[in-house]
Amino acid sequence: MTNLVAGAGLSGAIIANLIANELNEKVTVIDKRNVIAGNIFDYKDKETGILVHKYGPHIFHTDNKEIWDYLSKYTKWHYFFLQPNAVFEGKICNIPFNLNTLYQVFSSSMAQRIEEKLISNYGYGIKVPILKLKENQDKDLKFLSDYVYENMFKNYTMKQWGLKPEEIDPEVTARVPFYISFDNRYFQDKYQGIPLEGYTKLVENLLNHPNIKVKLNTDYKDVKEKYKRVFYSGAIDEYFDYKFGQLPYRSLNFEIRTLNQEYYQKSVVTNYPNNYDFTRITEHKYFLNQKSNKTIISFEYPQKFELGKNERYYPISNPETKELYNKYKQLAEKIEGLYFIGRLGTYRYYNMDKAAENVFELFKTLQG
Ligand code: FAD
Ligand code: UDP
Repeated sequence: MTNLVAGAGLSGAIIANLIANELNEKVTVIDKRNVIAGNIFDYKDKETGILVHKYGPHIFHTDNKEIWDYLSKYTKWHYFFLQPNAVFEGKICNIPFNLNTLYQVFSSSMAQRIEEKLISNYGYGIKVPILKLKENQDKDLKFLSDYVYENMFKNYTMKQWGLKPEEIDPEVTARVPFYISFDNRYFQDKYQGIPLEGYTKLVENLLNHPNIKVKLNTDYKDVKEKYKRVFYSGAIDEYFDYKFGQLPYRSLNFEIRTLNQEYYQKSVVTNYPNNYDFTRITEHKYFLNQKSNKTIISFEYPQKFELGKNERYYPISNPETKELYNKYKQLAEKIEGLYFIGRLGTYRYYNMDKAAENVFELFKTLQG
């Protein structure tokens, strides 16, 4: 009997690759979509040759050398640091809010005073979640945290989640802290990059093994055969027919446009915390530093996830949804040979490296 992997996203491709290579067992990988790679799917635009991240901007970043080395066997990298901008009060500034941003939005005497206070309160190079900074009672730091909260956080979060920052899991808002540094990079991980030939090619390479068979346009619910093990990277609540109720997700709508101009904006991503209904604009040619006299941009409009209408993107994590997820997890643990993986299977807001780590951990348990 062979193994089945439901979902040809990054998690599914990695578990299939490990089983095929390390255990030398056969694996069938199915996906209900007509393409591989799940939400890291990218494609070369026919007209311009620009590689487009169909489901939003994806930058691989990790401190985990094992994961980086493993993926590096399947792709070369274009070394890349994300340095996005945000528009506050019509000005283009660095984000996450850092010491450079401070000098961009305040007078230099005020910025200098705040910089000194930040460094003496927290230290240089420290990341302070905005909701933590708000607890500081110093007058200047209170002014700063209110400014950041009002201008960068509140409205972006309301757009993104339809909730106030206080209503969502602090882990989510802590992803974009105040950074007491002049470093403009979004991430500080040791290893960062974009696959030189794109993410879809990376996934294709992971799946390219004589032990692996890929079947697209195939939904798990239509699978009749029995398998030794099943790895499921679809939504765990869907697997169990929503027995305990639906796990909520946030969805997105991407509006992709080709423009007859060389560049549209100054960097790959520009956030619009306060204006418009979209949260950010991505300009795709920046990912691989591609040249064209045209450019492709995408607008990201958050929306409610509705079953059958749009895709699941972000799990909405709070104590209630964690409890609901745990009920499904307990049910899953009772079924021998069934493993839930990935963002949807484990209901986690995973970055790519964490999704990969999770699969590696599971694989180690299979090896005994
Ligand atoms: P998915 O990619 O969702 O794959 C699941 C697959 O399963 C899909 O192909 C789906 O079609 C298939 N499937 C589902 N149900 C079934 C079924 N019943 N039968 C058959 N197939 C099924 N991470 C980073 O590290 N860096 C970033 O910059 C970054 N940016 C992001 C930006 C956005 C807008 C979003 C939403 C996420 C971002 N991420 C980023 C996270 C990243 O997308 C995920 O970590 C990664 O895609 C997880 O892969 P996965 O295989 O777990 O899930
Ligand atoms: N966030 C914000 N303003 C920004 C960027 C992020 O308020 O300009 C908050 C928002 O709540 C968002 C969270 O920080 O959902 C995490 O942002 P991140 O950029 O990590 O989200 P992703 O890239 O995963 O969509």
